Amino acid sequence: MRTDPNCIFCKIVNNEIPAHKVYEDDKVLAFLDISQVTKGHTLVIPKEHFKNIYELPADVAADVFKRVPTIAKAIQRETGAIGMNVLSNAEEIAGQTVYHFHIHLIPRYGSEDGFGAKWIAQNDAFTKEELATLASNIHAQF
Ligand code: AMP
Ligand code: ZN
Repeated sequence: MRTDPNCIFCKIVNNEIPAHKVYEDDKVLAFLDISQVTKGHTLVIPKEHFKNIYELPADVAADVFKRVPTIAKAIQRETGAIGMNVLSNAEEIAGQTVYHFHIHLIPRYGSEDGFGAKWIAQNDAFTKEELATLASNIHAQF
C-alpha cells in the first residue's frame, strides 16, 4: 500500500488523526471536509497515496469513481441538497492544497450557499479550425 508519512490524508487512512468518516471499505475512504464549504461537503480518496489525477493509476481511479454516485446519493438523501458539484483540484494553480488525490462532493442548496466557481466562457476566443486542430492533437496523444 503506497503511503506517505507526511501526508495528512494518509494519516487519516491510518487512523493517526481523526476524521468524520462517512464511508469506508478496503480501498476507498470518504470523510467530511474539515472546512465545510456547504453542509455535507465530503472528500472521497483512495486509501493509497497518489498526488493527483495525473498520477492516479486507472484501476485506482476506477475504484474511487465507481463509489462516487453511491456516496453522493447518500449525502443528498441526508442533507436534502438540491444539487451537487463534483470536482478535483490538481496542482496549485487549480487550488490543490493537499497532495493526496481527492474528489470534493459539495452539496448545493442555492446560489448563495457558499460555493461558487468563476466560469467565464470564451465563445469567440478560438476559431473552428483552431478547435479542430486542438482536438486532433489531443486525440493523437493516446
Ligand atoms: P484541495 O484544496 O482541493 O487540495 O482540498 C483539500 C481539502 O482538504 C480542503 O478543503 C481542506 O479543508 C481539507 N482538509 C485539510 N485537512 C483536513 C483534515 N484533517 N480533515 C478533513 N479535511 C481536511
Ligand atoms: Zn497520502
